[in-house]
Amino acid sequence: MARTTVNAQTTIADTVRVVGIGVHSGQEVTLTLQPADPDTGIVFVRTEAVQGRDVEIPALWSHVSATDLCTMVGDPKHASVATIEHLMAALRGLGVDNVLIEIDGSEVPVMDGSSDAFIEAIDQVGLVTQSARRRWIKVLKPVRVELGSGWAELRPHDGQRYEVTIDFPDKVIGRQSIGIDLSPRVFREQVARARTFGFVKDLEKLLPMGLCRGSSLENSVAIKDDRVLNPEGLRWADEFVRHKLLDAIGDLALSGAPLLGLYRSYRGGHRMNHLTLKALLSDPTAWTLVDAPLRAAAPAAELGLGLVAPAWAAEVA
Ligand SMILES: [Zn+2]
Repeated sequence: MARTTVNAQTTIADTVRVVGIGVHSGQEVTLTLQPADPDTGIVFVRTEAVQGRDVEIPALWSHVSATDLCTMVGDPKHASVATIEHLMAALRGLGVDNVLIEIDGSEVPVMDGSSDAFIEAIDQVGLVTQSARRRWIKVLKPVRVELGSGWAELRPHDGQRYEVTIDFPDKVIGRQSIGIDLSPRVFREQVARARTFGFVKDLEKLLPMGLCRGSSLENSVAIKDDRVLNPEGLRWADEFVRHKLLDAIGDLALSGAPLLGLYRSYRGGHRMNHLTLKALLSDPTAWTLVDAPLRAAAPAAELGLGLVAPAWAAEVA
């Protein structure tokens, strides 16, 4: 495998397709991931969305238009893309900086409710490094958001650390915590396969609202009367908190560049993830862009993100 440098930008090596149904619409959608030039970032392209024309929607926090049940970017009256978080988590988890995502519907397919199918798709073509340096958003001072009984914060830290705690009254979930230093390997092994979950009692309320129409035991862990209904059971005993971590990684990937910092949340969710990122990035004194020094690194599978603290004697851009 080719050796590479840890702070070069990456894109996918070739075009790859993913087909599936939207969890809310229940409709079939085709995603086409395409390589993109350096500094493009992650951009959705809603094909033929308005009067037969394509509409580009950057996957950025400033384009977030809804955080109920899922994260949506773009203008829902014009052209938008919903349920982007599991795909965004796969891209951030593997360290993909630049990609165009053509989509022929308004919702990213749910697949099995995790990031697994997106990882598989990206692995079919692999990643290539590009000539431009990757830049990082370095957290300079803590920001914190509180919402009801939950809170979330971003703090300065030499690495990409995530610490997530959930606390449900239901016995089947209860209180669960997880902490990771994000790298492609950790994401693949500890996070990517954790599925979304829901309570049957909530589903009964959401279905008449036109939501969760595509929801099934094929794409979510369903809980009823303190029991997991899926015959195959859980992928980990704490799959629930791992999925909340996956969501946080995906939502925070809307920063536009990887984050150097510690993200912590207690009883968080899409809204809190978004508000915390917004609190950071709308305060210019709370962050700065940095380059890492060029150095030889691990093979492509460990590209970019499994960085150790001493590497962050980074020059301020
Ligand atoms: Zn999720």
